[in-house]
Amino acid sequence: MATPRPIRSMDPYAEAFWAYTQTKEFRLQQCSACNKFRWPPGPSCDQCLSDQFAWALMQGRGKVLSWTTFHRTYFPEYPAPHTSIVLELDEGPLFIAYPVGIDAAALREGMVLTLQWTDGEDTFGPYHLPVFGPVAA
Ligand SMILES: [Zn+2]
Repeated sequence: MATPRPIRSMDPYAEAFWAYTQTKEFRLQQCSACNKFRWPPGPSCDQCLSDQFAWALMQGRGKVLSWTTFHRTYFPEYPAPHTSIVLELDEGPLFIAYPVGIDAAALREGMVLTLQWTDGEDTFGPYHLPVFGPVAA
């Protein structure tokens, strides 16, 4: 059994995102009219209002912009201390994930982290969760 995780928020756009993760494809919705990335995904572009989009494949590399460590447990699946990071992906969009293979104390602004996958399971079923860690030496 995969690692139990909090229940994902699901709608038709989130469903598409998670369907790609089944084959470990990290894809974000990108506006077909103005190229702005939409994250979280949704029905229309917040820049030009177009409802046209494609699921663009991300390289899975980004710079750490910020992070925070929760010293209180909000989800039993993520016991405190739990750290979340905000990354600026190479393609531009911001993405929130959690770090793997690095202590929170070692995180630095601008540090480059790369995509790794970990497993997860909730009431929607098993899936792969995108997480980010140090570039493999
Ligand atoms: Zn647009």
